[in-house]
Amino acid sequence: LTVLRELTDIIIKNPDISPSETLPDSDPSVFHKRYLKKMRDLGEGHFGKVTLYQYDPANDGTGERVAVKALKQENSQVLEGWMKEIDILKSLYHSNIVKYKGCCTELGGQVVQLIMEYLPLGSLKEYLPKCNLGRPHSLMFAHQICQGMEYLHSKRYIHRDLAARNVLVENESLVKIGDFGLTKYIPEGDIYYRVREEGDSPVFWYALECLKENKFSFASDVWSFGVTLYEILTCCVHRQSPQEKFREMTQDTREQMTVVVLIKLLEKQHRLPAPKNCPHEVKILMEQCWAADSAQRPSFKTLIEKFEAIRQ
Ligand code: ADP
Ligand code: MG
Repeated sequence: LTVLRELTDIIIKNPDISPSETLPDSDPSVFHKRYLKKMRDLGEGHFGKVTLYQYDPANDGTGERVAVKALKQENSQVLEGWMKEIDILKSLYHSNIVKYKGCCTELGGQVVQLIMEYLPLGSLKEYLPKCNLGRPHSLMFAHQICQGMEYLHSKRYIHRDLAARNVLVENESLVKIGDFGLTKYIPEGDIYYRVREEGDSPVFWYALECLKENKFSFASDVWSFGVTLYEILTCCVHRQSPQEKFREMTQDTREQMTVVVLIKLLEKQHRLPAPKNCPHEVKILMEQCWAADSAQRPSFKTLIEKFEAIRQ
């Protein structure tokens, strides 16, 4: 308070110093485009492109590094979803969810860029093939993903795109869930969300009822977690990827791997194989996540308890 009083005194005595020049920006979530210096591309998915920038208002190379997500194309349809993605991320605070930092609006434009914390090791999909993760380490990551997901579900959001490519690595002992582009709110009392929009989807991560009826629920996120767990235990090696494994399951090699074929496989109780050296308890957990009846799947709360027991 004394500092403020002194500052006010100085300003009164020196009327040419205006507060806007002496005080830093009051809103730390407003990022100015002119201070963003591009460093490199980080990755891209269907709708977004993520780039590493240094935010350097002092212009002396000391600014912090941030990950900036922008839309790949800006038509009005994706724009609405984009603003929702930003609002959802803004409302989430959890150690296993990527942190929102702010926005950057291009001058005069309505298009907004999302500024997030930068996770130096990229997604699990890039990180895992490079390192030889031991079993306890893999289970620690799986446990952390469950903690982030349980928080998300407690806020009644479903992620709908949980996969290794959307889990980011902060350091060798911390992962965070990212990419809330498909996240939806489930109103109290409702149990699922039915998608209307067409377009390609991460089908090999989808539960049976998502493929058949477009019904997404807390339980369908659990199915996707099972596939993500499978990816972690196979170190995201391409040859063992869900796509490749489901393709191998179709006997007829000429048959195209379509959603119809995938549904047939899943209805015949075919599932991804247990990864090599997968502990029995973990194999059971994974299979429970892929129960055809969504009511039979565990919740993330139950999964957390199971991982705590297994990791003892
Ligand atoms: P999309 O919605 O287009 O799939 P994502 O948010 O999944 O976009 O980001 C695409 C890729 O960019 C990720 O798979 C990851 O490799 C990289 N990425 C995203 N966010 C970050 C971040 N905060 N730090 C480092 N890399 C990131
Ligand atoms: Mg993504």
